[in-house]
Parts: sequence; structure tokens; C-alpha cells
Amino acid sequence: MTVKPKIDPLIRVEDKLYQNRYQVDAGRPHITVKPHDKPSPALLALTRVCPAKCYEETETGQVEITADGCMECGTCRVLCEATGEIEWNYPRGGFGVLFKFG
Ligand code: SF4
Repeated sequence: MTVKPKIDPLIRVEDKLYQNRYQVDAGRPHITVKPHDKPSPALLALTRVCPAKCYEETETGQVEITADGCMECGTCRVLCEATGEIEWNYPRGGFGVLFKFG
């Protein structure tokens, strides 16, 4: 008797993330990047480590965030805790990520 795996080994992380839904709190982002001349290495690293790819570096070398797809994993909060370059809060009730495990 053959047992089928419960998880498809060919499914990509992006496919799983696509299952999530977001309730965007328009005009009230729950994470903001404070004004800066030059980003610290920690802030710059967020352009590579944020799993939702919320952070990006602009042509002028600034780091910006679009928090609409944030999964509230807290990676950026931990990484920039010492530098104080971001303001991090949970979204207001009823807003933010809605995880779907499917
Ligand atoms: S909490 Fe996680 S998903 Fe949200 S912006 Fe920070 S690193 Fe990205």
C-alpha cells in the first residue's frame, strides 16, 4: 500500500503565501520607516529578508516599506530594534493578514 504525502513537495513558498488574504487599513500603515540619510546594514537587510518583500531600496538609497502584504512575522522589528529606524505596531483590530492554511 502506497501512502501519499500530505504536503506537495513541489509547491513553492510563493504559492502558499498567495493563500493569505489582507485587510488593508488604508492610509494607516502599521509599520513605518523613520526618515534617514543612509540606512543601517540592518535596515538595508530587510530588503532581502522580509518574507513578504515589503521593503525596497529606492534609487536614492533610502529604504521604504509598503506594509500592505505584511505577515506580522516580526523579523523587521527584531532586526531594527537596536537601530530604532522603524516604528512597528500590530494592525488595528480587523485589519492585517488573514492566514489561510490550504
Ligand atoms: S513583520 Fe515580517 S512580513 Fe511584516 S514587514 Fe516585517 S519582516 Fe516583513
